[in-house]
Amino acid sequence: MNAIIFGPPGSGKGTYASILQERLGIVKISTGDMVREEIKKSTELGMKMKGYYDRGELVPDEIIIEMLKKRISQPDCKEKGFILDGYPRTVNQAKALEDFTKIDVVINLKVPDWVIVERLSTRRICKKCGAIYNVKYLKPKVEGICDKCGGELIQREDDKPEVIKERIRVYYEKIKPTLDYLLTKIPFVEVTCDSPEIPPEVMVDKIVKKLKEKKFI
Ligand code: AMP
Repeated sequence: MNAIIFGPPGSGKGTYASILQERLGIVKISTGDMVREEIKKSTELGMKMKGYYDRGELVPDEIIIEMLKKRISQPDCKEKGFILDGYPRTVNQAKALEDFTKIDVVINLKVPDWVIVERLSTRRICKKCGAIYNVKYLKPKVEGICDKCGGELIQREDDKPEVIKERIRVYYEKIKPTLDYLLTKIPFVEVTCDSPEIPPEVMVDKIVKKLKEKKFI
């Protein structure tokens, strides 16, 4: 199965995609993680993307499309299938995707704005491995330390309050039209999350159930 997990920032899509990767044995591809990795390693590409990232803006299409195309052409994606998290975010990106791969299903997460703001402002990520936590709803065993690798947990630059507003604006202006475009082309399943307290495993159960009902898995 090749899938796209779609939802506003803070909808939990990164966390759910990680769990789905383990449960279904598919490859999770997060363009946000790829961007952060390039910035962390201070590569030439990373330096081009840093300004956009820090301001909560979208990185230009041609950079993201090229980066993703390379990743999808790796053998693991062909063998196991993949789940895209954070891509496409513009209609251009969606159209480019049609040229180099076939997507079976869009998993669409519906989340009200207040849940988004609450989730993002309390989110933390591991500086070393990128694992996602939340100081209120998904606490690590030891405060400030990653359960998986012992790395330090930090707040993402773009999870700071002034930037969150900009990301929600970008979502409605650019990303939502992309979803509308995708839904005219690709079958989808829809799952609603109307409280920040619903545990990720419960949400993933709902997603898996719908995917099974519609015979995608
Ligand atoms: P995310 O972790 O998915 O919220 O992505 C964090 C940031 O990375 C975004 O605010 C953008 O600056 C950049 N980014 C990630 N994916 C894309 C994409 N598909 N198109 C443009 N920019 C992206």
